[in-house]
Amino acid sequence: MKYLTSTILKFTGVLIAMSSRYDVVVVGAGIAGSYLAYLLSRLGIDVLLVDMKPFERVGDKPCGDAIGKHHFDELGVEYPKGNELEGIVRGIDVYSPYEDVKYRVLGDGFEVNRIAFTQRFVRKAVDNGVTYLEKTHALRPIISRGKVVGVTLWRRGQGSWNVNSSLLVDATGLSRAIVRHLPSEWPVSEKLDAKDINIAYREVRVLRKPIEEPEILRIYINKDVAPGGYWWLFPYSLSDNVVNVGLGVQGGMGYPNPK
Ligand SMILES: Cc1cc2nc3c(=O)[nH]c(=O)nc-3n(C[C@H](O)[C@H](O)[C@H](O)COP(=O)(O)OP(=O)(O)OC[C@H]3O[C@@H](n4cnc5c(N)ncnc54)[C@H](O)[C@@H]3O)c2cc1C
Repeated sequence: MKYLTSTILKFTGVLIAMSSRYDVVVVGAGIAGSYLAYLLSRLGIDVLLVDMKPFERVGDKPCGDAIGKHHFDELGVEYPKGNELEGIVRGIDVYSPYEDVKYRVLGDGFEVNRIAFTQRFVRKAVDNGVTYLEKTHALRPIISRGKVVGVTLWRRGQGSWNVNSSLLVDATGLSRAIVRHLPSEWPVSEKLDAKDINIAYREVRVLRKPIEEPEILRIYINKDVAPGGYWWLFPYSLSDNVVNVGLGVQGGMGYPNPK
């Protein structure tokens, strides 16, 4: 309730003002942007967090959903639980191209529900005073005298408006929504080589038969199925026979679309 109330108040404030100033604007409320907004909010920094997705979809992305337990220990972040948790991981089997060699790496981790996990940090950030705008697109950075001084935002029904900030963070993942508008002579705007991009497809499926050792993830390095990448089968051990299965194919090589 506190979350909803504060969100609505924040929405109202921004939409009426249509222009404001923040210490930091974070574009992208995926796991990186949401966690950063939360960390900054703990320092009392005035933050605006925006994402084009609705709150119900933040963090959503084709992904293996696997994460090692040690990351939580190192960052002091609470382990996923409840609806954030899809499975427990005890290790991973990596298969050679002909599947004649299998290498098992043991290590504890989790299969997470990325949406619920990311929402945790958006909620915590908002509780700490961050202004969060869902369904809001960052169009481009505002540049003045060779410096980024803010961002132009757009929202359906509201049009576009400018927000000034001391710092603008591009947490838009592969889309690099801010960085790609920067002057080409700035080192940070270096173009991505298509060969450094992996094109992925994945589904979450219910298998007809139980899977052996559901707490072991599987990676198959197979150049016919996934040239330049691999295909994976990651069971959600907390549900019966549910697996996250997908493949990633290297871009820029003319390989077929993985779907
Ligand atoms: C096939 C595949 C499998 C993977 N498997 C794993 C795994 O098992 N374990 C693991 O730890 N990692 C995995 N990863 C990596 C992981 O998914 C990424 O590292 C992680 O999602 C990056 O998070 P992010 O917040 O940086 O970006 P994203 O999750 O991409 O978030 C970017 C956000 O920016 C928003 N956005 C974009 N443009 C704009 C704009 N103009 N205005 C407003 N908002 C905008 C988007 O809506 C999105 O919410 C995998 C990746 C792929 C592709």
